[in-house]
Amino acid sequence: MAFGEFDLIATYFSQRWPHRADVEIGVGDDGAVLNVPADNQLVVVTDTMVAGVHFDQQTPARAIGHKIAAVNLSDLAAMGAEPAWLSLAITLPSIDQEWLTSFSHGLREICEYYDCQLVGGDTTQGPLSVTLTAHGFVPTGQALRRDGAKPGDWIYVSGTLGDAGLALACQQQRCKLSDSHYRRVLERLYFPSPRVALGHHLREVASSAIDISDGLRADLGHIIQASNVGARLDVDEIPLSLALTESVDADEAIHYALSSGDDYELCFTVPESRRGVFDTLMARHPAKPTCIGRITSESGKLRLERDGEAWYSSARDADDDSARVEGYEHFR
Ligand code: ADP
Ligand code: MG
Repeated sequence: MAFGEFDLIATYFSQRWPHRADVEIGVGDDGAVLNVPADNQLVVVTDTMVAGVHFDQQTPARAIGHKIAAVNLSDLAAMGAEPAWLSLAITLPSIDQEWLTSFSHGLREICEYYDCQLVGGDTTQGPLSVTLTAHGFVPTGQALRRDGAKPGDWIYVSGTLGDAGLALACQQQRCKLSDSHYRRVLERLYFPSPRVALGHHLREVASSAIDISDGLRADLGHIIQASNVGARLDVDEIPLSLALTESVDADEAIHYALSSGDDYELCFTVPESRRGVFDTLMARHPAKPTCIGRITSESGKLRLERDGEAWYSSARDADDDSARVEGYEHFR
């Protein structure tokens, strides 16, 4: 008999996957039955990746499996949640066993690393697309939100920004990099690392948080809009990788960091009263958060500065310093 939908689920999405004690029923019944720990709230996030929109022909299947999990775990991290369960809806043009082996490896590696269990999903035939729903826990009342920033809070970002955007630009022949820089930034585009551990620490200290998927400018824009505040950023404080600074000129590097997406770092705010504790806590943390600016009371204004003077990334900016969405946006 030909290899069909149920063989596919059994072969690639249920055998040898990690199991968690809080899963009463996982893959195999009509629905999953799951136990949320006492005194915790469930945080639920979903992301879709569509062929031709979020990835192209040359993207390795393992990267697609990794990334669909990483982008969801990044949303959970931004909420301060601990990841637990995943549900996968996959649409495939045909059964390509080589592709499925690599895809499922990419996804399973993340499940193993973060102790997540794939508890269900749906498998259909059609144009290639993958949708993942991730479930995580936060102690009741402690979820991080976008709407908690207050004037005077310090603005931080983790890691370095702009690398994935540079990789994409290079793939699309919009710039040229050395082989070693290209490999490094491509790794960031294909295999982002969700800042799960950082998200946990932030529950104690941050007044707001978001993950950077559409570019710092757009995503910080969401924080200031939700919190009804403004922000002042020192563009020279934005953390950039060597791969980025050695590949494009200084202002262009800042532009990548502000406006290109797919970084999956966290942007968050820390009140003055917590800043000392936070900096000490983070001195050795692998996510290396950098302070890049401060929240202001100028509602909706995102002011970019260099040496205390306004910095404009293009002529257009000069007459518009509002928190204009400049990252990737569908339907625009
Ligand atoms: P139903 O027809 O009742 O909706 P399905 O036949 O779609 O159930 O799925 C059978 C079982 O396999 C369910 O437990 C479902 O959650 C799981 N499943 C289906 N597709 C996937 C997938 N891609 N990954 C993980 N589990 C899946
Ligand atoms: Mg059913």
